[in-house]
Amino acid sequence: MTGQRIEAPESSIELVGFDGDDTLWRSEDYYRAAERDFEAIVGTYVDLSDADTLRYLLAVERRNLRVFGYGAKGMTLSMIEAAIELTGQRISAADLQRVIEIGRATLQHPVELIEGIRAAVEAIASRYPLVLITKGDLFHQESKIAQSGLADLFPRIEVVSEKDVATYAKVLQEFDLPASRFLMIGNSLRSDIAPVVGQGGWGIHIPYSMTWVHEAEHDLSPDHPRVFTVETPAELPQAVSAVAENAAEMTKTGLKHA
Ligand SMILES: [Mg+2]
Repeated sequence: MTGQRIEAPESSIELVGFDGDDTLWRSEDYYRAAERDFEAIVGTYVDLSDADTLRYLLAVERRNLRVFGYGAKGMTLSMIEAAIELTGQRISAADLQRVIEIGRATLQHPVELIEGIRAAVEAIASRYPLVLITKGDLFHQESKIAQSGLADLFPRIEVVSEKDVATYAKVLQEFDLPASRFLMIGNSLRSDIAPVVGQGGWGIHIPYSMTWVHEAEHDLSPDHPRVFTVETPAELPQAVSAVAENAAEMTKTGLKHA
């Protein structure tokens, strides 16, 4: 192949993935509010400064992730379990009912799009096929997608139980696409970015104002060459172009060196 010039495609990105919670619509705010309400109920039984209620709840939730999966239903069951344990089984049925109501409210919160996201998704959808990859309760996620009014922009929607290397590999296999031609956009470095760039893909991190402790844990280098960061949805279309240029350049370089 020496000396033979192969024209690289203008763009090497062929599929753009979007995360749902805290990327397209607000989510973490409702979980934080639920935690505050939970703390207030448990606080009528125990001294909150001693009990470290929210840390205890987090430990129960993480322990239960592999059983209940992600989402508000799992959180509700973990809240009930934590409330019973933290109060030494003294919590009343009436208060347990209030805990269940917290879960119900979290599942039924209105879907509020992140400002500017619709325009950004529309702009990117005019240039690339999109896939929505979101995790959590199937029923809740489907309901949020329907309420968001964005479903028509996503020809493919994947609701998955975990967002790890295996999950993304399976999605890419279904699209018959190498990871190097896939770009994922999301607020979680742990779930949206690290498992994609870890197998050769690209990521645009768009941080949300708050991150669940569990999602904040990752071992991704902050200056990874295939990770871009933007502050607002308005910056997304340009960032996608920048990724596409870099991906095309890398393809060209790769071919030259082949
Ligand atoms: Mg998210």
